[in-house]
Amino acid sequence: MAGVRTLRGLVPICARVGRGRALHPARAVFSSQAGLVIDVATNDGKTNADEDNTASTSTEPLSCAISVFEMFAIGIGPSSSHTVGPMRAAERFASILSNSDYFGAVTKVKCNLYGSLALTGIGHGTPGAVMHGLEGHLPDSVDIETYDARVAEIKSTKKLVLAGRKAVEFDDDCLPLLKDQVLPAHSNGMEFFAYDSDGEVLCSQRYYSIGGGFFVTDEGFGHDDALFAAGDLASTTSRSHTDSAPFPFRNAKEVFDMCESANMTVPELAMQNELVWRSQADVETGLLGIWDVMDSSIQRGLHTTGVLKGGLNRQRRAPGLRQNLEDKKNSAAPELSIAWHSGMLYDAVAMWAIAVNEENADGGRVVTAPTNGAAGVIPAVLKYYLEFVLPTRCRRCDFDPAIDIGCRSPHVDRKYCLAAQQRQGVIDFLLAAGVVGMLFKGGASISAAEVGCQGEVGVASSMAAAALAAVEGGTLAQVESAAEIAMEHFLGMTCDPVDGLVQVPCIERNVMGAVKAITASRLALANNFKPDDGGYVPIVTLDNVISSMYQTGKDMQSKYKETSLGGLAITVQVPVSIPAC
Ligand code: SF4
Repeated sequence: MAGVRTLRGLVPICARVGRGRALHPARAVFSSQAGLVIDVATNDGKTNADEDNTASTSTEPLSCAISVFEMFAIGIGPSSSHTVGPMRAAERFASILSNSDYFGAVTKVKCNLYGSLALTGIGHGTPGAVMHGLEGHLPDSVDIETYDARVAEIKSTKKLVLAGRKAVEFDDDCLPLLKDQVLPAHSNGMEFFAYDSDGEVLCSQRYYSIGGGFFVTDEGFGHDDALFAAGDLASTTSRSHTDSAPFPFRNAKEVFDMCESANMTVPELAMQNELVWRSQADVETGLLGIWDVMDSSIQRGLHTTGVLKGGLNRQRRAPGLRQNLEDKKNSAAPELSIAWHSGMLYDAVAMWAIAVNEENADGGRVVTAPTNGAAGVIPAVLKYYLEFVLPTRCRRCDFDPAIDIGCRSPHVDRKYCLAAQQRQGVIDFLLAAGVVGMLFKGGASISAAEVGCQGEVGVASSMAAAALAAVEGGTLAQVESAAEIAMEHFLGMTCDPVDGLVQVPCIERNVMGAVKAITASRLALANNFKPDDGGYVPIVTLDNVISSMYQTGKDMQSKYKETSLGGLAITVQVPVSIPAC
């Protein structure tokens, strides 16, 4: 990033804590080394300092077995790193203040935005996200209907309601965009300050938004325990507890070996791990809630017209695609070929992916899966499963889900009950997809700034392919193969969005991710892995492709990694800035 100065020596301080007053027993620890506040939330009140020795001296790769709710977070568009992460970080800072003894003394707060957050902050809504976070809102629950109006009100009154409790000063100087500076550890840096009426800094904290809605402190780098989870349900999940999962894994081989020896499917393994953190009922309810948000984003995208935010003047396309598809369905003559009808399947998948990504581009509510820029792939493929793979009517009672609320009678054999199949299908799909996402997050990266778009849309496609194969009853080998095939054909994919907006090529790229996932799944399911019976044994494993993706990303020039300095971002003649999703 030419011309950007790296700031050194900025030290997060917390003056009152430095004088020996703890912020909150479960949230802060005073480091004896540097006097730094390490902001780490765990669900048992332990800090990461308690476990620091293990974390810092171990050379063992960390377990990838995080909660599935860390892979799927309900948020808002357009960017998991530039919108979701900053809002969560700001909310965390406000929460620390709110739980401190000196909350009453705070009269003003400030947030410096550095590097990429400053360069693209306006286009990605970072300032508004920070304001809402400081008011105590989180991406999964902030009111998107009043969102923009509240930002305008804060700007005009120069006051915000800190942690939803008290009005404090927040004037034009309180959110500087420091475009020529980056913090030492990461391009997406933020620093928060709280002042008293004398202008003395009561507390400050530095956070980095590192993709997928995750954020971390300086001290958190290299300490997975200190990685703040993206999802709200996941906020009760400490990564320090992942080793207590009954089926911890560090790579795909371990996942599939454990499934085989325990005679479990991938979703069953994932569920057993989730039970460490929450009850089965909560897991199921949470996952169905995730799907509900995904499906709602599809529906909103299909019915919202207008021009997307940003300077590209792009009309939303999903409503037109919906109309075309409905016209086709209504005019479909019975004599038309099966091939003609199956073409509609591709139209539908494309329409669903575009609907979600247009919602994301416009700042709507979507599920980060595993990032916002790639948010359309998994909903489109799961919708395909529900609409095209499952039977449309219950085989026992002729329940039509489009008309009826539920089956007309409870079935003894629930495998014939469509409502139950749909419900279980959603749960298993998201669990299987989550495991594959964890493998990429742990073994490579889901950040375009690190590895390009192969780490975002590529990972989403791989997750969806494996999940589809799993819910279609694929064997373990078929599930692994589906994930591997999908990613194999995203290797090397750059991140080069035009004008720094998550629109071109991002929106259509999600369509390709969804279609590749379905094709990869079908290829894998068609293979019996028996060369003497028409099958074949793949020579590329999922672990091969994960490490290839990471190595390829490391070798990629930075102009292809979330900088908008290469590829389409250059050849398409519009003003250039730096993107993120
Ligand atoms: S091209 Fe970049 S900004 Fe667009 S979806 Fe891919 S990773 Fe995200």
